[in-house]
This record gives sequence, structure tokens and C-alpha cells, in this order.
Amino acid sequence: MSERAPSTRENLLGLDRRALEAWFAARGERPFRARQLLPWVHRRGLGDFAPMTDLGKALRARLAAEAELRAPLVEAEQRSADGTRKWLLRLADGNAVEAVLIPDGGRRTLCVSSQVGCALNCRFCATARQGFGRNLTRHEIAGQVWAVTRRLRAEALAAGDAALAARPLTNVVLMGMGEPLLNLEEVLPVLRLLVDDLAYGLSRRRVTVSTAGVVPAIERLAAGCDVALAVSLHAPDDALRDELVPLNRKYPVGELLEACRRYAAGAPQRSVTFEYVLLDGVNDSPAQARLLARRLEGIRCKVNLIPFNPFPGAPYRRPPAERVDAFRDALLRAGVRTITRRPRGDDIDAACGQLVGRVRDRTRRSRRMAEEAQA
Ligand code: SAH
Repeated sequence: MSERAPSTRENLLGLDRRALEAWFAARGERPFRARQLLPWVHRRGLGDFAPMTDLGKALRARLAAEAELRAPLVEAEQRSADGTRKWLLRLADGNAVEAVLIPDGGRRTLCVSSQVGCALNCRFCATARQGFGRNLTRHEIAGQVWAVTRRLRAEALAAGDAALAARPLTNVVLMGMGEPLLNLEEVLPVLRLLVDDLAYGLSRRRVTVSTAGVVPAIERLAAGCDVALAVSLHAPDDALRDELVPLNRKYPVGELLEACRRYAAGAPQRSVTFEYVLLDGVNDSPAQARLLARRLEGIRCKVNLIPFNPFPGAPYRRPPAERVDAFRDALLRAGVRTITRRPRGDDIDAACGQLVGRVRDRTRRSRRMAEEAQA
């Protein structure tokens, strides 16, 4: 697929309802065609137009000539002992990203990527090591959900599980590779597809965008599509956060928390999930927990503690279990709703912060360096 000549047909996979209506209208077709097309593509998982019988023969021929439904190619799959699955998805330009499925009781959460690599350079994250490749397009982001949903549906049907086939995913989180709020323009249409009843039909509380704290984009997210917000905080003060999350030098803790407070106050059911990766001896003391609790006062929120997931060459360690519990207890005593996230899929490098995918340019550069070293 990556060898194929660039297509002149327009990819419709990542277009939300409004964009699809405009696409039909611009061709002199009736806009409600969008409402017919969406369920075929996203609920049934069709990849071509021929079987879409309610669209009429002429329109289907026109769609086949002018449009396409093209997703990243699922290239490899790894399965964890705990049921977590990770896919490497190849993009048309040769780059690759990863998506992770985390089954948990009745919940099936898909974690998708928003960029090739990441520019933020958080010290504790494996994705940062490969640098930034590029933004994913809306088609590539929606395509991860589409490709995985199709696969899960086919598996469920083969196993005779009609209920599972009808609802392969219950939650989607933008917590894979990349910073979604630095690619909001491409992320927003995908969020709208995820919550659209004619497409994936997920509840707004079951679609989560996670950010390292791009303050101005938080407001734009709230205005663009009302979904759940997670903020990767990791430190209660600027001195430490500047070091762990370099983006903090641009948007310090005070400004970030103020944006979160406004976000949570913006609608009655809204709250913010703060993610806090626990690094042994760095940000995991009871005093830091108490400071964190003080700073979160007045914000409708909960805290997800993530014991550090190691990767080769990482400068940190996971704290001992007692220390994780003590941190959690200090937050609970201060009245903060807190849970500790179990590491999932860490045996296949699918846990938070372990995704690497592949950035094409880097690979080339390292190949050249290897060749030069040999010469
Ligand atoms: N850029 C976004 C989304 C991707 S990261 C963000 O920063 O929120 C998804 C989550 O994994 C973030 O909370 C991130 O801080 C966390 N994470 C990164 N590296 C980790 C590691 N090595 N161990 C545990 N969590 C990690």
C-alpha cells in the first residue's frame, strides 16, 4: 500500500458528519447522503462503496471514482499475557504508529496515536526518544479506530459473539504517541465521529483526550467537541515540572490548573483527570502529595497515579508498592479522588509511555549513520 502512487481520490474516512455533508453538497449531491454513508463506513466497517445499496448505482460509481476509504495498514500485532493487544500501523509515507487495546472487565478501551513521534520531550517517556515526525491526518487517526474495530468485529463474528460484534469498543483514549492538542485541527473531526450516533456512537465521557498541558488549546477543545479531558501533571510545582515536562516552561502549573478549573466548571458533568506518573525518589513523596492536593483544591477532578513504566535507558525507576500506596493515601486523606492505574501490556511495551512506532526519517538517518560507520 505504501508503494501505491498517491491517489487523486479524496479519502472520506476521517470526515465528520458536517464535512461529509459539505463534500456531497459541493458535488451537487444531497447532503443527507452523509447520514447514509456514515453507518456503512463506521458501524459496519465497509472499505468500499459497492455494497452501499441505499446510495443508488450512479452515486456509488461516482464515489468509487472520486473518493476512497483508506486506513493505515495493520502490519504487526503483539499480545500481552494480560489480554492487552498492540498493533503497528503503517502509514502511506512509510512512518508507523501504534495503537493499543486494553480489555478490562466489560470495558474495551482503544488507545490511539495523534502524531508520528512527539515534540514535547518529556523525560520519562519512550516516545520522546524518537523525536517528532509529523502530525497524523484525521484519516490516519480515525483509521486506527476503523481498522481495529473492523478486525475486532470480524473476530467476534467468527466466534459467534453477536453482542461483542455490535460493540467492539466501549472507550477511546487519545493517549498513544504524540500530543493531541498540538494537532487539534485533525483530532477534532475524529472526536466528532467517535461521539456521533451514526458513526461510533460512544458516550462523551468515554472519549478522552490526554494533554501534557497545551493551555490555549484546552479552551478550543472544549468549544470544538465536548469530551473527557486528561492532563498529564506529574509534579505539583514548576521547578520539578519544568524538568519532567519541558512544555511547562511555556505553560506553568498555575496557568495550566487555572485552565483546568475553567474547563471543569464549563459544564455540569465535567471533571478533569490528572495523570501523575510516579518516579522513584523524584515526585513520589507524601509532602509532594499534600502539595498536589492543595493545588487541586476547587477543581472538579480525580487523580490517576501511573507507576513509572520502564524502557531501555530510562533515567527513572518505578517506586516500591508501599511508596505508591502512601502517595495515594496522602491524596485520599486530603479528599482527592485517586486511583492507581495497573500497568497493562508492559510485557509487550504497550503500557503508558512505552510506545515507539517508527519515524521514517530517523530510521533513514540511523541507517545512513550505520552505513557510514561501516565504510
Ligand atoms: N501527550 C499526551 C498523550 C500521550 S502520553 C500527554 O502527555 O498526556 C499518555 C500518558 O502516559 C501521559 O499521562 C504520560 O505522561 C504517560 N507516560 C509517559 N511515559 C510514561 C512512562 N514511562 N510510564 C508511565 N506513564 C507514562
